[in-house]
Amino acid sequence: MIDSADAARLKTAARGFNPVLAAQPPTIFDVMSTLAREMGAINLGQGFPDQDGAEDVRTFAARSLMQDSNQYPPSPGLPELRQAVADHYRRFQHLDLDGMSEVVVTSGATEALMAAAMALLSPGDEVIVFQPLYDAYLPMIRLAGAVPRFVRLQPPNWRVSAEALEAAFTPRTRMLLFNNPLNPSAVVYGEDELRIVAEACVRHDVIAVCDEVWEHVVFDGRPHIPLMGLPGMRERTVKIGSAGKIFSLTGWKVGFACAAPPIAAAIAKAHAFLTFTTSPNLQRAVAYGMAKDDAYFAPMRRDFARSRDRLAAGLQAEGFSVLPSQGTYFLLLDLEASGIDATDTVFCERAVREAGIAAIPVSAFYAEDPVRSVVRLCFSKKDETLDAGIERLAKARRLF
Ligand code: PMP
Repeated sequence: MIDSADAARLKTAARGFNPVLAAQPPTIFDVMSTLAREMGAINLGQGFPDQDGAEDVRTFAARSLMQDSNQYPPSPGLPELRQAVADHYRRFQHLDLDGMSEVVVTSGATEALMAAAMALLSPGDEVIVFQPLYDAYLPMIRLAGAVPRFVRLQPPNWRVSAEALEAAFTPRTRMLLFNNPLNPSAVVYGEDELRIVAEACVRHDVIAVCDEVWEHVVFDGRPHIPLMGLPGMRERTVKIGSAGKIFSLTGWKVGFACAAPPIAAAIAKAHAFLTFTTSPNLQRAVAYGMAKDDAYFAPMRRDFARSRDRLAAGLQAEGFSVLPSQGTYFLLLDLEASGIDATDTVFCERAVREAGIAAIPVSAFYAEDPVRSVVRLCFSKKDETLDAGIERLAKARRLF
């Protein structure tokens, strides 16, 4: 235990700590999950399934832990996994990656993103990011000494406009960071929008880092199109994936960065100093899982879509208006269209404290000029959790 005098001394010492992290408030997910625990609330805030995914992949990992080596794997990843990632993306996304020179295995997509920022950015470089943005992006960009430039997206369609994007470029733009499918908006960008992004990257000669962790969690027959596959993008895109999302095993933290050899080599170097490597049994199990075919992926998508529809229908029956969810684990409540006269933050605060339901205000995903009328709910939960969540959201609605 530290006493108050110690705490004061620590606070003084912390003045010299890294200013980027010191300026970072606690994440909204921590705030809401802590409140949810304190209030005994149902948590539709943080995005994880409440049932473990792919049993055969887990069994493979358990067996491998006991039977195979547990010593350091090669830093860029086990060859069998790098090859499996390349084969997987050939099969599902028609990409022609070389496993050995173009795939780096990382400890989650989070590490792949940080390694890409460390490897590819220099102080003063500018990075174009789209708001709403995943919470890790800004600290990563700033820790690399780079400067974010924002393109604002808004409901209900979250469309990317060529003009708004063009206005964000300057001679210092080095990278564009794009997330598709987009968390928290649950939109899956198709050919038209990807073309706008790709043409801008080619025209301005910048590297695109495309966070595609939700690539398999897409609904209603919508395909996932990798940005790397668009004309001119093969040699300038870093494609980032996550086994946690592919197999509904979010705690595993096995990710991949795929890019042309010089970019992949730079990312591998950053990864060597960040974590060096990733648990060997999990890598082997993910290699096994990446060989699965649509007999696994189609039912996974169908089950998530069923949960999405259950939550959407229940909320609509209670008078809520929801936005279309094309992919990810998320469904958005439109407060204004639901006739609720409150900002997303006020709604979420009162909902968790007074109605026992935790959700995430989408304004938390904006660094400036936030959209304040949309709330993010996670539907990758058991039916009874969703039903209880609907009941409690109805109670929250009656508070306003
Ligand atoms: N990017 C996005 C857009 C995400 O939603 C997530 C997970 N919520 C991640 C990256 C992190 O993935 P991982 O757990 O593999 O680090």
